[in-house]
Amino acid sequence: MLSQLLSKLSQTISPTKSEQTSSELSQSSASLPAPSPELLSKPRLTTSMDWSLYPNFSEDEFKCKHCGKVQMNPTFIHRLQTLRNLYGKPMLITSGYRCPQHPVEAKKATPGVHSLGLAADIGVNGSDAYKILRLSFDVGFTGIGVNQRGQGRFIHVDSLDAPPRPNIWSY
Ligand SMILES: [Zn+2]
Repeated sequence: MLSQLLSKLSQTISPTKSEQTSSELSQSSASLPAPSPELLSKPRLTTSMDWSLYPNFSEDEFKCKHCGKVQMNPTFIHRLQTLRNLYGKPMLITSGYRCPQHPVEAKKATPGVHSLGLAADIGVNGSDAYKILRLSFDVGFTGIGVNQRGQGRFIHVDSLDAPPRPNIWSY
């Protein structure tokens, strides 16, 4: 019984060579190869947001919870998708875009990185949080916030490319 299951599982994990070739362009992110070092160091620079390029994320997940507006930066989402590919399982986005009027941003002297579309909070804890944190350094996020106390634990990642970055903080 167990060996049957294992054999079934390995068939699922390792598609045949012909399947790999024919589905190379349309394969799901779960079976994407690890990105090359070149991809990690040079995220694609684009100016307009095309969500169809990112198989694991949708615009809805990043909407401002205050007004529904979304203005995410494509280079940031590209890096987040790279993180998602390496992580290999679903990631819960607890906060993406926040407009300057969002209560959290309105309290600040100047709206923060969420208002620039350069940040996301990933709802995660325990060993998954460890994995997300490690991969966040690997893919080149420059701002990393760690909230791992009590309820609603998350890891904040951002791609601000100006002082005070690189930076890491806790909440
Ligand atoms: Zn808003």
